[in-house]
Amino acid sequence: QTVLDIQAIRKDFPILNRKVNGKPLVYLDNAATSQTPQQVIDVIVDYYSNYNANIHRGVHTLSQQATDAYEQARIKIQKHFNIAKPYEVIFTSGTTHGINLVANGFSSILKKGDEILVSAMEHHSNIVPWQMLCERTGAILKVIPMNQDGELVMEEYSQLLSSKTKLVFCNHVSNALGTINPIKKIIEKAHGLGAAVLVDGAQASPHIKADLQELDVDFYTVSAHKMCGPTGVGMLYGKEEWLKKLPPYQGGGEMIAEVTFEKTTYADLPHKFEAGTPNICGGIAFGAALDYMNLIGFDAISQYENELLEYATEQLLTIDGLKIYGTAAKKTSVISFNIEGIHPYDIGSILDKLGVAVRTGHHCAQPIMDFFKIPGTVRASFSFYNTKEEIDVLVSGVKRAKAMLE
Ligand code: PMP
Repeated sequence: QTVLDIQAIRKDFPILNRKVNGKPLVYLDNAATSQTPQQVIDVIVDYYSNYNANIHRGVHTLSQQATDAYEQARIKIQKHFNIAKPYEVIFTSGTTHGINLVANGFSSILKKGDEILVSAMEHHSNIVPWQMLCERTGAILKVIPMNQDGELVMEEYSQLLSSKTKLVFCNHVSNALGTINPIKKIIEKAHGLGAAVLVDGAQASPHIKADLQELDVDFYTVSAHKMCGPTGVGMLYGKEEWLKKLPPYQGGGEMIAEVTFEKTTYADLPHKFEAGTPNICGGIAFGAALDYMNLIGFDAISQYENELLEYATEQLLTIDGLKIYGTAAKKTSVISFNIEGIHPYDIGSILDKLGVAVRTGHHCAQPIMDFFKIPGTVRASFSFYNTKEEIDVLVSGVKRAKAMLE
């Protein structure tokens, strides 16, 4: 049984008090975006009320206060993910930005015939930038397959790896299935053949506190909005040696050392990758979100979310004709399901009328849907502020939808 005081935690989230279609909101779309606690909202209001200014350039007090707070947030991120150096933390607008930055950088490294491996369960944002990279460079994209439980087939991965493999990318946790991938093994094997690894941590970061030095990963990306922070900000971790090797992604202010019309030299890390005025308030709020989650504690969070996952799985499986996709032994609190003969969108629409927010569709992971030969799923994803009573509302809502649609 959880050690968390869920009712007290829920009071931190003002949005959880609202009604949707006349019913209390039951928010089960946490894998798409998490809700924001008052503690983080207060930081945003404080920033715009008291010290909004551009950073790294002004000598005036406001600019210095904003710069200090932004750089402190970078250090909070560094500590949270156990990153060796603060300048290995690059602020981005989110996971998508981080992956594109790395893919763009590898344009100047990959050669025709080089191979890059992607897992079969990626979000489109961890597929499309690499396909674009292959088009530019002539490199070849190969896919690490998965099995019916939604787990990667590691023997096949070992066979795909060769001296031609330059890069492997994989999510830490699948957004569509919730599978927790064995990234430590994936990284070790890739490094054995000299390939670099990018792990998309967008779905893991709300549930698992990753130790990036222990993992020895080359790149790791997250989005703040999945972990109680605001949208439009995230982080890319890169090992210093890689960040030095990769060319800048965007040109502009902040990322230069010296500019003349003949030649520009680039700023040191991390600024080389941070062109233009960043999402200053977002970065500061991201730091506050990490403080908030760490105060609750990731061990308690994952233990409680597992309770929710087990309870919801049991309850949903009592419904005739309901099938869960993603039955890996290790998964986060995500349940993707369908009911035989009913379109997921119809279930989602009826649930919305009952105040229950779930995601329906392909979850930006069409290859997974193709694998299971389905158009999409209904996805309920739980956070530490959800309750078993909310799961009861979901289950009775799904039963009602089934009765109406059959
Ligand atoms: N990867 C995964 C696994 C995700 O779940 C998401 C968000 N749904 C992304 C990447 C993209 O994140 P963002 O839209 O914040 O850039």
